[in-house]
Amino acid sequence: MKKTAKKPAKTPALASVVKNGYEKASPADLKRTEEYCAAYMDFIGKAKTEREAHDEAVLLLQAAGFTDMARHEKDGTRLNPGDKVYRSSEGKTLMAVVVGKKPLEAGMHIVGGHTDAPRIDLKQNPLYENSGIAMLDTHYYGGIRKYQWVTEPLALHGVFVRPDGKKIKVSIGEEQSEPVFCITDLLPHIAIEQNQKPLGQAIPGEGLDVVFGSIPASEKDKKEKVKHNVLSLLHKKYGVTEDDFQSAELELVPAGKPRSAGLDSSMILAYGHDDRICAYAGLKALIDLKAVPEHTSVVLLCDKEEIGSVGSTGMESDLFEHAAAELLNLTSDSYSELTLKRALRNSWMLSADVNALFDPMFPTYFEKRNAAQLNHGVCVTKFTGAGGKGGSSDASAEFLAHIRRIFDKNGVIWQTGELGKVDQGGGGTIAKFMARHGMMVVDCGVGLFSMHAPMELAGKLDTYMTYKGYLAFLKDGRK
Ligand code: MN
Ligand code: MN
Repeated sequence: MKKTAKKPAKTPALASVVKNGYEKASPADLKRTEEYCAAYMDFIGKAKTEREAHDEAVLLLQAAGFTDMARHEKDGTRLNPGDKVYRSSEGKTLMAVVVGKKPLEAGMHIVGGHTDAPRIDLKQNPLYENSGIAMLDTHYYGGIRKYQWVTEPLALHGVFVRPDGKKIKVSIGEEQSEPVFCITDLLPHIAIEQNQKPLGQAIPGEGLDVVFGSIPASEKDKKEKVKHNVLSLLHKKYGVTEDDFQSAELELVPAGKPRSAGLDSSMILAYGHDDRICAYAGLKALIDLKAVPEHTSVVLLCDKEEIGSVGSTGMESDLFEHAAAELLNLTSDSYSELTLKRALRNSWMLSADVNALFDPMFPTYFEKRNAAQLNHGVCVTKFTGAGGKGGSSDASAEFLAHIRRIFDKNGVIWQTGELGKVDQGGGGTIAKFMARHGMMVVDCGVGLFSMHAPMELAGKLDTYMTYKGYLAFLKDGRK
């Protein structure tokens, strides 16, 4: 063999280069960005609640050949590498799995997002009449800025569940032919006193009641004729009575479809990006896995993240551990608690949730060098929390190095980002609840403008690169 002369070592670029993703992306990626975002917009246009996101996701999974894991749990039929299943919890939280070549004990690759979003829920006794107007009393869900939700067209989504078990799905206000609902606000002419109040107090929680109707019923002897009239309309359409609100989950969400935004259509304006934008990316990445992955690939679409991941469908519960136990039982001959703990501990996870974009309208709230920038790629967040990283799952440098390797190898345009300036507040995701099992977790997702507002704004390139990053992560063999 001929001895070759040793090449002088090339000096690597010493300083980081920050560049808009649209300047870095290949023509193929730009084309796929458009296609991917159109499919995503279709999804969130239909998935306005956690239940609807669950149902839409199940449809996509079934179309891709995934089957219900419940059948296997019931009859014990084994799951083998390449098998594709999903597991539903209460019609809200959903887990989808592609069984990998390695035993579960080697660890899973998990992408976990959430499908609940801030909204206005109806109370259990919501309907009343005041001054000849039928009103709905509400209790908001998640961290909303209340002043943003008044005078918005709202649609009513959810379910009534009758004592006989009958479930009645409700959706009013999405079709142009259907009415919408609205919370009123004071006119500026007489708002001198209200204008003096701090932003967070101008609209109180009990001030978010919705105007529901105004035509009186024709019956002569009825009291509260307007309330009676809307009840009879509800009975005609859904067969429900006022008592049925007691066992209902009805949510008011911004009405209408997602729209492309900006003259160059480089953004998406929509309700519920947080966190359906990451949940959908995980789901689509799992569906698009071409080869059987080395490690079992798992995507979680969780409920209740916006109120702290509490409850039976939130990640603070044992739900995931239970699901992993079932998965272990179905994929191995020797189930043991130790094997389950190893499977959890050896797992890698991307906590698929959104972050805040540097906003030129609010520069003082961000630290520019460490804030995510619009369309600069999927955002990796080492830690969340508040104050001195309080309440955060701080990912290790070692795990971040793996993510760098995976993303760079697969042409993923990405950036790092932290949620606002130090001591400006903070936030969290499901990362810390999953880290409890000892697995390595890092937050990774799309940066947003106006997070938790009725309409949130996201970059299209960021949206696509998040999908591309999750796909690269799920198929990575840790080599
Ligand atoms: Mn979120
Ligand atoms: Mn959120």
